[in-house]
Amino acid sequence: MRTIDGYNFSNKKALIRVDFNVPLTDDFKVSDDSRIVAALPTINKILKDGGSVILMSHLGRPKSGPEYKFSLRHIVEHLSEKLNADVKFAGDCVGKEPSELAASLKPGEVLLLENLRFHKEETKGDESFARKLASLADVYVNDAFGTAHRAHASTAIIAQYFPNDKMFGYLIAKELEGINKLFSNTQKPFTAIIGGAKVSSKIEILNNLLDKADCIIIGGGMMFTFVKARGGNVGNSLIEEDYLDVAEEIEAKAKRLGVKLLIPEDVVVADSFSNDANFKNSDASNIEAGWMGLDIGEKSARDLSRVIEDSKTIMWNGPMGVFEMENFAKGTKSVAEAIARATDSGAFSLVGGGDSVAAINQLKLADKISFVSTGGGAMLEYLEGKVLPGIKAISG
Ligand code: AMP
Repeated sequence: MRTIDGYNFSNKKALIRVDFNVPLTDDFKVSDDSRIVAALPTINKILKDGGSVILMSHLGRPKSGPEYKFSLRHIVEHLSEKLNADVKFAGDCVGKEPSELAASLKPGEVLLLENLRFHKEETKGDESFARKLASLADVYVNDAFGTAHRAHASTAIIAQYFPNDKMFGYLIAKELEGINKLFSNTQKPFTAIIGGAKVSSKIEILNNLLDKADCIIIGGGMMFTFVKARGGNVGNSLIEEDYLDVAEEIEAKAKRLGVKLLIPEDVVVADSFSNDANFKNSDASNIEAGWMGLDIGEKSARDLSRVIEDSKTIMWNGPMGVFEMENFAKGTKSVAEAIARATDSGAFSLVGGGDSVAAINQLKLADKISFVSTGGGAMLEYLEGKVLPGIKAISG
């Protein structure tokens, strides 16, 4: 892996693709700076080497051209404080102003470019736009894992203009290391836990994991398509009729490969989709008409926790139930706690995907998990076995 570690940035201008897509308050103050903080180690390493830094990012989803509310100008003050340095700002990312500011940048100085997505060429992956960005610097560093699955100008296309001077920053390197640990030299048994609403959005992950995991636990709304495919009664639970065949195929593939496919035996059912609904425990394959499964049951939570605790490698994506509602959050909580216990006993654990990460943070368990991925869509695509354009552009 080509990372910034083996490179001396002394007197070099480094163009870093960061993810500064941070939430802002109504008066344009940074309300959560975790993404800025996460990028500091990469920036500081380059400055410490005696290099200068040019930062580029997107912010929000501007429709066409510049929009004040999506200007990266809003974060200059916050970034300056965090870096303990005066951050210069260019009111555009290409053209005369950024070129002049970049040319006069001295070692130790930092320049932030305006929102890349103010130019439609960015998301289109336009080559001449990428070349203009590239002309600002000597070295290209990609440290934005969240956009690595996009073939945008700043995330992938630009790398070709730095054949010998392109590399990953610390953030991306850590994400790749974490995910690669699941797939190479994997400590066995490897248990993957997949939950969430729909089978349709998880088919490719399931297929890829079937070739790698020893055991796959299926929870969340998607379990009911599997239960129904097995001939069970699922009442009003979430079902994807069009995916009953897919569920059968996944079951058959698991059997063929000797992968244990564990589907919860009991569930918590409710008489409506609400935290105020009446609820009770039920056999997962015999749900009464008018009731719907909204969480895995107590027995399943216990059984699955045991499987998780006996695992040496664990991957979790997707909640076990409607964890946003307190009455249906227990299954997700017990799985999260089991993963934390397994990690404590030496297992490697990776948790990824918006909802599972939210659950881990809500339960204050983040520091008890080996790696919490912030990659979102990029992480899912990587787990699906896809080649990410932003990664390929640097690794080849
Ligand atoms: P996903 O984005 O596919 O990982 O799905 C996450 C969503 O699935 C969360 O908002 C959960 O509330 C929802 N979910 C989990 N279990 C169920 C269930 N049994 N019925 C309906 N929705 C569920």
